[in-house]
Amino acid sequence: MTRRSYAEVLLRLDRALAPQETTRVLGEVPHGEVKYPIQSIVLGRGAPRRALISAGIHGDEPAGVLALMEFVESARFRKYLADWELTLIPCINPHGYEAGTRHNREDRDLNREFKSPAPPLEVTLVQTVFSARFDLSLELHEDIDSPGYYLYQKGQVDEGAYIGDEILKAVEGILPINRDTEIDGLPAEGGVIHHLSDGREMDWWPMAIYSLWKGTRRCLTLETPAAHPIHLRVQAHLAALEEALRLCR
Ligand SMILES: [Zn+2]
Repeated sequence: MTRRSYAEVLLRLDRALAPQETTRVLGEVPHGEVKYPIQSIVLGRGAPRRALISAGIHGDEPAGVLALMEFVESARFRKYLADWELTLIPCINPHGYEAGTRHNREDRDLNREFKSPAPPLEVTLVQTVFSARFDLSLELHEDIDSPGYYLYQKGQVDEGAYIGDEILKAVEGILPINRDTEIDGLPAEGGVIHHLSDGREMDWWPMAIYSLWKGTRRCLTLETPAAHPIHLRVQAHLAALEEALRLCR
């Protein structure tokens, strides 16, 4: 397996951004002798709508991190900035990203800790970006057990038509879609899981439920089939996130 370097992620993003597109360090997490900054990058500040795009909360799901690097390095994000202020958190779990583990350095699953009274530091730092409301949140994940791409779609009922089906149309030329009627134990239709657990009844929250609770109007959790080649998983995530930005503006 290729050794992944979080320092390289930060360096590449830094090189690709203009000086005014500053990166904000949300805080630092200890990593052995050093500390890793958890960064957010805000692009198109002040645009009418706000989107949060995050990756790497599970360290063994690298395609999202690589997709956000390509999104920035290719300058593909620029065509959305008239409509969108984009907040990117390119890698929430840098220790897991380097070690190739789902969990963080304390062996905790960060995407189960958003309701915890004492969440891991990474979660506490990510929670600070929700001080202002988002119109859209995209969370980039991977699923080693899935034969195809799929997504969770959650949002307020008055948000109008759901966009999951359209997003999957943008992906299907790149990777197969998981059309099982049940995915991850939940009812699914054409690769879309609509099921929204009632956060009040849940003992733990993933980031998406926290995001909805903080007023985010639409949350999409995007999952690649991780047994497929990495470059296709990266391209599929890019196609999905660009289609979501295009459809929502
Ligand atoms: Zn995941």
